[in-house]
Amino acid sequence: MTEAPFALEGRRVWVAGHNGMVGSAICRRLASENCAVVTAPRGAVDLRRQAETEGWLASERPDAIFLAAARVGGIQANDTRPAEFIYDNLAIQTNVIEAARAAGVRKLLFLGSSCIYPRLASQPMREEALLTGPLEPTNEWYAIAKIAGIEMCRAYRRQYGCDFISVMPANLYGPHDNFDLESSHVVPALIAKAHRAKETGAPDMTVWGSGRPRRELLYVDDLADALVHLLKVYSDEPPINVGTGEDVTIDELARSVCEVVGYRGARRYDASKPDGAPRKLLDVGRLEALGWRAKTALRDGLARTYDFYLENVAAPGTEGS
Ligand code: GDP
Repeated sequence: MTEAPFALEGRRVWVAGHNGMVGSAICRRLASENCAVVTAPRGAVDLRRQAETEGWLASERPDAIFLAAARVGGIQANDTRPAEFIYDNLAIQTNVIEAARAAGVRKLLFLGSSCIYPRLASQPMREEALLTGPLEPTNEWYAIAKIAGIEMCRAYRRQYGCDFISVMPANLYGPHDNFDLESSHVVPALIAKAHRAKETGAPDMTVWGSGRPRRELLYVDDLADALVHLLKVYSDEPPINVGTGEDVTIDELARSVCEVVGYRGARRYDASKPDGAPRKLLDVGRLEALGWRAKTALRDGLARTYDFYLENVAAPGTEGS
């Protein structure tokens, strides 16, 4: 049933989660692939409902699926809403993977996360580190769901011969991210905070935790390019890491964000907020052997994300929300 390399030309490709940051980047990238992109209009199908998901796939009959629909959020959202993170993700991925098998979908790409690896995995983290130690507690519910998705793709490949693959991205950022300070990831949060501090002339801005954790940040359009590449060339059980191969401390990141935004005040660290994992740098050896490398420098990606924020989020009246 597997076809390598998988040709996208002339194919129907469903981007599940096309309204999100990752899904919208995949749609932008697929525009140059000569395939028909299928998306589910908002409200048309609740992927947490098995019958709705099966009905949608049976009627749309895509050849390939990018499974980018998920409940996502930053460290505080993960830590405080564990039930939503485990239930929504398990339900969405279980329904889509099983319905894809039933509908005879030829290729499916499941998106995981670098938080699936043990909290203290040796760095950079190779794909083999999966299930070798305890998880980071602030996002273990999300991680458990994502691990189940990887294992499901492996099981479906083994038992049914389905060409379903899994990809583990580093921490993502870019256009269409969530800039809400309570539920967002670190990059959009720092952009929104630095912008607000600049606009109001505040002497300092708050950064959560100690500033010492390290994060590997991948621009979402680079991720989309890697996903299209992997969908075409990769067809095997092990997940593939996608990252830049480099990381920065949160303090270094905050300094870069302030420079991009043009905020010259101080940074105040709030130790009452969690640091999360000390470090989660991905080993990208397998990805590079498959012929792909990240292109966007952090500074450029931050500048583009700030432009998006200025044009779409920081409109008068909504600023600082
Ligand atoms: P994580 O990679 O799952 O921990 O996700 P996040 O992107 O939410 O957080 C990454 C790191 O940035 C953590 O150490 C946070 O404590 C730190 N951080 C600093 N300031 C902020 C902030 O304003 N929002 C978020 N979400 N994280 C922040």
